[in-house]
Amino acid sequence: MDEPILLSQAHVTQVEEEYVLASLRSGWVAPLGPDVDAFEEEVAARVGGGVAALALSSGTAALHLALLGIGAGPGSCVLVPTMTFVASANAVAYTGAQPVFVDAAADANLDVDLMIEAVDSLQREGQPIAAVMSVDLFGRCCDYERLAPELETRGIPLIEDAAEALGARTVGGAAGSFGRAAGLSFNGNKIMTTSGGGMLLSSDHDLLDRARYLATQARQPVAWYEHTDIGYNYRLSSVLAALGRAQLSRLDSMIARRRAIREQYASVVAEFEGIRILGRGEHDDPSDASDNCWLTCLLLDEGAPASADEVLTALAARKIEARPLWKPMHLQPVFATARSFLTGTSEGLFARGLTLPSGSALTDAQVERVCDTLRAALRREQR
Ligand SMILES: *Cc1c(COP(=O)(O)O)cnc(C)c1O
Repeated sequence: MDEPILLSQAHVTQVEEEYVLASLRSGWVAPLGPDVDAFEEEVAARVGGGVAALALSSGTAALHLALLGIGAGPGSCVLVPTMTFVASANAVAYTGAQPVFVDAAADANLDVDLMIEAVDSLQREGQPIAAVMSVDLFGRCCDYERLAPELETRGIPLIEDAAEALGARTVGGAAGSFGRAAGLSFNGNKIMTTSGGGMLLSSDHDLLDRARYLATQARQPVAWYEHTDIGYNYRLSSVLAALGRAQLSRLDSMIARRRAIREQYASVVAEFEGIRILGRGEHDDPSDASDNCWLTCLLLDEGAPASADEVLTALAARKIEARPLWKPMHLQPVFATARSFLTGTSEGLFARGLTLPSGSALTDAQVERVCDTLRAALRREQR
């Protein structure tokens, strides 16, 4: 009987055990403490670009505070890529602002030209735009070289959802260093994890100070509990920060492992027509060299020997967890009434794409089983 193979399992080693045990023994089991401070400094140093960091209980909390920090609220809108995980859009909804969805480019990241068109038409209509949110999808940075100056000219703040992209880079910096503020996620399935957690990054110290205040129930700095604002309980616990520090110390090796797994999938893909890895062009195209390879996604076009559905069924039959790409937000019932700027690209990606098991904890034998199953699924249809 096949053991299940998961999509992106947490990768925990003895290093993590040592950090967490040391944290428990240090007496800082209550929230905050030296591990939280050190974790913030280490992540900020890793991302670079002059950012400082605020450790939080989730990536969603980071995006929520980022949006509050630039003044998103009732009466304003925030443009969000439609191809994303629901948390990007939920964070907008929490502030009372309206999410407006914008379609994807061929690599699944936001379509920069369409985003600019959307900004211009909303501005022409006199719609207040609080921000544009970019998402570095599946561990690949957006085209900030084009997006950032266009937004700058129009005076629109950029918020970067880098939840999936820690360790990825592009021209001008690392994921998490773009825009007024960025959010990282350390959820259990991300490139590194604190089991649950996130981080807000910004080089705007006023924004970070305000977020730190809101994240601790908006407590005034006096001896008794004094409150003049509605706050949140969003800070990260010390024990989880210790886990995060251990994971961060292994981040490069975990990225390298995910990349090596992707290369194995690429060699299977190269045997067939009409199928490719999202974010790469033809077989040996290294255009994903600066991505963190969080999830490896396949795209099966009309000429492929099997459809995405057929491949998913074949993988499931061998207990291999694979999934369609994120279902676009404009197709989600909860956002049915939201405004959208669409080209059809995200719907095509959703129909033709799938994500393969990509976790750094996968063994060679597990990756082999995925490759064999994939090959068999594609050959069967070729006869
Ligand atoms: C995971 C994720 C988030 C949310 O992170 P949590 O830590 O789970 O709250 C936000 N945006 C994207 C694109 C994500 O993949």
